[in-house]
Amino acid sequence: MRVLVIGQGGREHALVWRLNQSPSVRKIFCATGNPGINQHAEPVPIPASDRAALVAFARANQVDLTVVGPDAPLGDGIVDDFAAAGLRIFGPSKAAARIETSKSFAKEIMARAGVSTAAHAVFDDANGARRYVRERGAPIVVKADGLALGKGVTVCLDVESAIHAIDEAMEAGTFGKSGDRVVIEEFLTGEEISFFALCDGESAIPFGSFQDHKAIFDGDRGPNTGGMGAYSPVPRFTPALEQRVMREIVEPVLRTLAAQGVPFRGLLFAGLMVDDDRISVVEFNARFGDPESQALMMRFEGDLGETLLAAAEGRARGLTLRISPKSAATVVLASSGYPGEYRKGVPIRGLEQLEGASVPSELKVRWSLGRIRVKVFHAGTALRDGQLVTDGGRVLAVTALAPDLRTAIETAYSAADLIEFEGKYCRRDIGHRALERLSA
Ligand code: AMP
Repeated sequence: MRVLVIGQGGREHALVWRLNQSPSVRKIFCATGNPGINQHAEPVPIPASDRAALVAFARANQVDLTVVGPDAPLGDGIVDDFAAAGLRIFGPSKAAARIETSKSFAKEIMARAGVSTAAHAVFDDANGARRYVRERGAPIVVKADGLALGKGVTVCLDVESAIHAIDEAMEAGTFGKSGDRVVIEEFLTGEEISFFALCDGESAIPFGSFQDHKAIFDGDRGPNTGGMGAYSPVPRFTPALEQRVMREIVEPVLRTLAAQGVPFRGLLFAGLMVDDDRISVVEFNARFGDPESQALMMRFEGDLGETLLAAAEGRARGLTLRISPKSAATVVLASSGYPGEYRKGVPIRGLEQLEGASVPSELKVRWSLGRIRVKVFHAGTALRDGQLVTDGGRVLAVTALAPDLRTAIETAYSAADLIEFEGKYCRRDIGHRALERLSA
């Protein structure tokens, strides 16, 4: 089949890379692509916001399946537009994507489905929100209701910072319309684990467990980013826990959405807080995570094209997803200054050492002996006069697959150290929770 992928980051590179290895896939287009993606896909210079042009492109080029990476086009209704044109597309409709694009809607669905989540209240006026925070005290969490580039959530350790977060969202308009409404909720303790489920509107199949690292600095300090690294699977996320999450969270949510006339097709990403026996939902996303997907695609062994098509056509039931039991770890190389201001256009060197024949022989021996693989996914790169340069805050996602998590993490770091660009920054403690547990 002919596939169109929408997006241009590390997640989309991982999806395109795996689609390229799918026997069912003959041709890949990517709107808009990046230098890594373009090794496997024909770039299409149409922005994700131009839905009509994307529909016209898919039609004119006999695209059999479109796969949407980012949240914004899903929230804008790209799936509805493709469906209306009779085109197959992997992702939820605009109404179903509200599970991500509106935190108050997600809370409503969870309440109906009987799913455990933080106690909360919703406010459209700042005075009411401030009063509530003063009554409840801290710690407490203030969330802009809508999409805010991952920056709309403030975990507040005292009442003053909660008041400040309310002022920022509701009075200063920091998140635009997304902050006109806020959700204020109980502070949850425990360990955060992400879980993916492939959904076809009625049934769901587990698609991996992950831990990501949102804060910019080691020890989970500093401002939140799009994600500085991830690994999969999470050793603590046992098959028994997975079964509970499917039964107590994913299946009831799918049933509730379907009963409301908004069946969820696509990738349901549950952000969970696990505290002994209590599993609570922190948030839902309606798409593949980034950088979780880079780790997942290293582990996934099936035909990705056929798998996503089956979900898009409502045929997921009975599908078995072939996922390697090995561990994958992803380390993001970022531009110094990110998530604030950073430079672009900085030359990147050393990447060729990780591609095929030019891997230094001593590393090649080590990697092949341990059945280890390394793949570098491009997140924010560009080609200027034939030279690869930085073009974003998150630049590359260095990913390793190995028989055990410790080796995967070590390999990802040894590969990351071979890549050089001025201002290169990465966290040095990806996977620290699992490693601490393994050595305990
Ligand atoms: P979200 O965008 O809702 O995932 O929130 C971003 C991050 O804020 C999460 O990954 C958590 O680390 C933190 N967070 C969100 N809600 C809560 C909560 N109720 N209790 C504790 N931490 C939270």
